Parts: sequence; C-alpha cells; structure tokens
Amino acid sequence: MIEEQLKIVEENIQTACKKAGRDRKEVTLIAVSKTKPASMVEEAYACGIRDFGENKVQELVSKEEILPKDIKWHQIGHLQRNKVKYIVDKAALIHSVDSIRLANQIEQDAAKADIICPILLEVNVAREESKFGFLEEEVMEAVEQISHLPHVQIKGLMTIAPFVENPEENRIFFKKLKQLSVDIAGKNIDNVYMNELSMGMTGDYMVAVEEGATFVRVGTGIFGERNYTKTNI
Ligand SMILES: *Cc1c(COP(=O)(O)O)cnc(C)c1O
Repeated sequence: MIEEQLKIVEENIQTACKKAGRDRKEVTLIAVSKTKPASMVEEAYACGIRDFGENKVQELVSKEEILPKDIKWHQIGHLQRNKVKYIVDKAALIHSVDSIRLANQIEQDAAKADIICPILLEVNVAREESKFGFLEEEVMEAVEQISHLPHVQIKGLMTIAPFVENPEENRIFFKKLKQLSVDIAGKNIDNVYMNELSMGMTGDYMVAVEEGATFVRVGTGIFGERNYTKTNI
C-alpha cells in the first residue's frame, strides 16, 4: 500500500513541477512518519525514500537508532529548548525554529557537539493563533540576529499552512513565504542562505510545489491516517 501511495505522490509532484516549469530534482519529498512504526519507514525506504519527518524528539531519536544510517531525519514539529541536545547531531535539518531563544539553544548544543546545525525559520504566514512561528514582520530581525550564531546556519523558511478543504486557498500563503525568502535573500546577509522552502502537506503539496517548495512534507498521503492515541516505534 505504501508503494502505491508513493507512486501517486511522486506522479503528483511531477505533474506540479511540469505545470510550474520546474525540475523535479528541485523538490525533496519528506515522508512524515510520525506515530507510524519503524516497519512502515522501512517499507518506504525500500521504495527509495531517504528523507523522513518526525515531530517528536523521542520518536526521531528512537527511530534514528534502529533504522538505516543513510536516512535523513527532519525535525518538523515544535521543538522545546531542553530537547535540542538529543537531536542536534541527528537531525539533517530542523524545520521548526520559531524563536530566537530556540536558535540560541541550538547554537549552544551545536557548539558542544562541534557541528554546524542547518535550520529553517518557521513563519506563521496565515497568522493563526494556534500556530507557532514568527510573524512575517518579525522574520527579518530574527534572521539578522540568528545569522551571527557560528554553529547555526539558516537554509530557508518553513510554514504550516491552514487546514483547508480547497488547497487553492493556501496558494496565497505559499506565495507569501516565497516572496519573503526572496526579500531576505536580497539582503545578502552573511551566513544566511535562502535555498530551501519547506511547505505543503498531504492536502496542498501540489500547490506548494507550483509556488516554489523545495521540501514537501507528506504524511497521510503516504502512510494513511494517524492514530494519536498510541505511538509505535
Ligand atoms: C504531521 C505533519 C505533516 C504531515 O501532515 P499530513 O497532512 O499527514 O501530510 C507535515 N508537516 C508537519 C509540520 C506536520 O506536523
């Protein structure tokens, strides 16, 4: 079943790339495996997927320990400062940096681990009360401050768009995130890269690809519905 779902998602990404005149290679599919057992990750891995997304530190760490070492683990969920130390050298990319305090903590733990940690800044473009992330008007100041941290490297921006019936409703938010990244890139700030845009989930990843996503995060569309009452590893 995972193999068939992956085929559908792959076809959809290709269709969206074609429509937007983009090269398929510009887009990385992250299979969001949160709440799903390691056996399902292995199934997707066997189909060639190497990028997986988790939103809980404990789950990322447990899966990282037992699954193949060439997997890139993406921390996509809100990250508490006291948990940074557990994933700083295990996550290929932290998508969800939503405060300067969190960036400072990553700096501290990355320095200790003697690595440079790649991050994305999460932007709440739709200004939803329930969501984490910088507001648009806060991002530039945050980028400037975080750019001075030697063990942290900003690679781009991430957003979680609203849950909508019609994905077209989110196009405006994807466009906004793209524009914001162009504006930041235009400032040519040292130690700041704007090559990555993490946007689009099961309901709206095709629209996100059309608007410039370089990472799409697809869970349900690959692994099926999640059951939050239990976590299998
Ligand atoms: C769970 C999650 C996803 C995947 O959501 P689906 O709708 O199942 O594709 C993507 N991004 C983040 C940040 C998530 O927490």
